[in-house]
Amino acid sequence: MIETTNQTKLFGIMGTPIEHTLSPKMHSYMAEESGVDMSYLAFDVAPEKLHTAMEGMKSVGACGFNITAPHKIEIMKELDEIKDDASNMNSVNTIVNRNGKWIGFNTDGDGFCSSLILEGCEIKGRNVLIIGAGGSARGVCYKLAEYGAASITITARTKEKIHIIAEMLKKYSSTEVYDVIDKTKKYDIIINSTPLGMHPNEDKNPCEFMDIINEGTVCCDLIYNPAKTLFLQEAEGKGAKIINGLGMLVMQGILAFELFNEVKLDHKKYYKELSCLLGDFKI
Ligand code: NAP
Repeated sequence: MIETTNQTKLFGIMGTPIEHTLSPKMHSYMAEESGVDMSYLAFDVAPEKLHTAMEGMKSVGACGFNITAPHKIEIMKELDEIKDDASNMNSVNTIVNRNGKWIGFNTDGDGFCSSLILEGCEIKGRNVLIIGAGGSARGVCYKLAEYGAASITITARTKEKIHIIAEMLKKYSSTEVYDVIDKTKKYDIIINSTPLGMHPNEDKNPCEFMDIINEGTVCCDLIYNPAKTLFLQEAEGKGAKIINGLGMLVMQGILAFELFNEVKLDHKKYYKELSCLLGDFKI
């Protein structure tokens, strides 16, 4: 257990609801292991209190914090600078105080892609199908393209949101983008980015085309609780490799910790150890 001192740096996470967040546990573990004198607390911040909470962070000299739902877009108004990735994704999940300047980053998409790599799933040259076109899908697609995916097909119930992501991908990458599923095509990676499969929708599988899944497919869910959604259970039954959202959660946390403290961590070591620490959610 790290003792706090008058030098202890303050970090945290803001969102609402926040009581189930695993971030304080992750960051406290990384701080202890890497010998950084910091505290990381969870703050339940209602949307109408976001500005005041940000002012409070500035006043008490916090060094940075993470942002989670529902503030990832709204917080951008409060910042001095937004890094390119986060700006293109239109979402910020990590804020760092650099000499009094508040800078926004996004580690979600990178967290997802680096967790896939650590799980032995190549992205470069792969055909990806993503279900859902919300905030997370946008960040994940942006990074999948940067990691060299050959094509990204997006399917979602609100077509307008597909087009917003498709336009972003066309602007920033040369990855092919499709908004219609081609059942004759081999999709190497299929991702669920909808909340279907999570409480209260544990009995729902958002993938209406399970017949295209086989032993060569990698099926991913951004959900980590339950560890095995109905989509992942059925995909596993077809012989697919399955990856849940715990790795994304862990990796976005590791990347945020590196930004907070301007350090480089051993990703493999911390990925393994943090996945074990939060093991109740591990497949
Ligand atoms: P979001 O912005 O609300 O987007 C959700 C997407 O799912 C939208 O395309 C939405 O469609 C669709 N959707 C919602 N309910 C649906 C339904 N009943 N039928 C069909 N489509 C439905 O949410 P998000 O922030 O992207 O989060 C998505 C998931 O990722 C959540 O389960 C979240 O817990 C998980 N997540 C995990 C991590 C991690 O670290 N592992 C990080 C962030 C998020 P409409 O636009 O039409 O509503």
